[in-house]
Amino acid sequence: MTGIINENLYATLQAGFPADPAAACLLLPDAGEVSYGMLQQESARYANLLASLGVQPGDRVAVQVRKSPQALFLYLGCLRAGAVFLPLNDAYQRHEIGYFLDDATPRLFVCRPQNRALGDELAAASGVPHVLELADDGGGALVEAAAAQSDRFITVPRRSGDLAAILYTSGTTGRPKGAMLTHGNLAANALVLHRFWGFRPGDVLLHMLPIFHAHGLFVAIHCALLNGSPMLFEPRFDAARAIDLLPAATVFMGVPTYYVRLLAEQGFTRELCAGMRLFISGSAPLLKETFDEFTARTGHTILERYGMTEGGMFTSNPYDAERRGGTVGFPLPGTAIRIVDDGRTPVNGGEVGNILVKGPQVFVGYWGMPEKSREEFTEDGFFSTGDMGRLDRDGYLTIIGRSKDLIITGGLNVYPKEVEEMIDEMPGVVETAVIGLTDPDLGEAVTAVVVRQKGGAGEAVTETGVIGALKGNLAGFKVPKRLFFVDELPRNAMGKVQKNVLRERFQLLWLQTVKQKEVFNESTF
Ligand code: AMP
Repeated sequence: MTGIINENLYATLQAGFPADPAAACLLLPDAGEVSYGMLQQESARYANLLASLGVQPGDRVAVQVRKSPQALFLYLGCLRAGAVFLPLNDAYQRHEIGYFLDDATPRLFVCRPQNRALGDELAAASGVPHVLELADDGGGALVEAAAAQSDRFITVPRRSGDLAAILYTSGTTGRPKGAMLTHGNLAANALVLHRFWGFRPGDVLLHMLPIFHAHGLFVAIHCALLNGSPMLFEPRFDAARAIDLLPAATVFMGVPTYYVRLLAEQGFTRELCAGMRLFISGSAPLLKETFDEFTARTGHTILERYGMTEGGMFTSNPYDAERRGGTVGFPLPGTAIRIVDDGRTPVNGGEVGNILVKGPQVFVGYWGMPEKSREEFTEDGFFSTGDMGRLDRDGYLTIIGRSKDLIITGGLNVYPKEVEEMIDEMPGVVETAVIGLTDPDLGEAVTAVVVRQKGGAGEAVTETGVIGALKGNLAGFKVPKRLFFVDELPRNAMGKVQKNVLRERFQLLWLQTVKQKEVFNESTF
């Protein structure tokens, strides 16, 4: 490699490692510690193991395990060996795993010991040659095999356009799509975020996110590694545990649910956060209410950013200037955002439209889906995110929701967020999801699913009361035709409300409502 820069992401990250190999990288719950020197040695062992199994640069390694230091070594080992890391949410079951193995044809599948028999069966059916297990406590056949390998490995040279990872999108409709991310995509985003969020010597990251997703794996880990910082590396989010650890941290990254849960803890105080430099939120919308309450409680302003599996982070609220609640800030340096109508023509300033994005972090396409990949890009290289949003006069971007969640009722567009915000403001309401249910007459009927406070003002919240209060304030076609109450909204691991689950759950009830209406000919509908 003389004279040629190795564009392998690992080489980029490694440039940030501290000179002292004894410097801490992972601080573990049992008081154990992994130094940066150990991280290099362990990732070398995993890279050697992969090579010994015949994993060639470009081969996929599918991994469905719980978060552990060994899972991180494996990720870095994959990068170093030039393999393509393919993390899978551990909630996926037989049918889904089978699909991923068939689709991605990895050379190795790493699973939890309790899934070994299933892993063997599915791997045999998909022609995956190797299966090894990694236990939740960091033991297992994979770890034993790695321990027997040399702790030295020369990181395989990669070009920025070579694949580093495939992440299947958490898409709620259609076949899951494998977003192909290159070494260049990941490095570009890591370097920008590290600078933009002001990482500095002395930073300590409290890491409680899962690492099968871009947020925990790329955004959080890459920033810490590039900064040569220690991470308080926790297996999962736990509010009480976060309260114990925050005094030892300076940066925290979370999904909005984490912030809601922290605020529910009495011990979450201004004093506790006194040593913190930055709280970052993303992966799902942070309610303005949560943003404001957080500032009031801690004196810190949450920095909200926006991105997706298909490219990491696209926009961020500023580090040094006003962080505006309810918005996701500005395009990151080197990134362009365009808001367009359905014909991909830019809308007028301030209007809602589809969000397109272009930048060095944007993925190169979906694995094995060249047609689909082409459709999602414009001729001049902008990717259609599937999100809808609006740029305000100062250039801050507000996300309105996924375009597939847009409700078209009687031919008119309803953005769920507008209705959700109005209901959320009513006393006694905790939160709301507005969905469209298939309706024989309207195409889709606007429906609200509401979580009420237990007791107090919550008891006075009724279907007719909410609908009545909205009438007069919102155009009639936007007012929900029905309101259903639930104890909590279904969310995935990243805190996103699963509107598809709600649609499935309430579709039948809605059709029954329509039937009753026909029988009684009620005029209230
Ligand atoms: P994922 O690919 O799982 O990371 O999901 C990406 C999607 O999450 C985006 O397309 C948005 O719909 C949503 N999302 C991410 N960050 C935000 C945010 N700050 N506010 C609102 N939605 C967000």
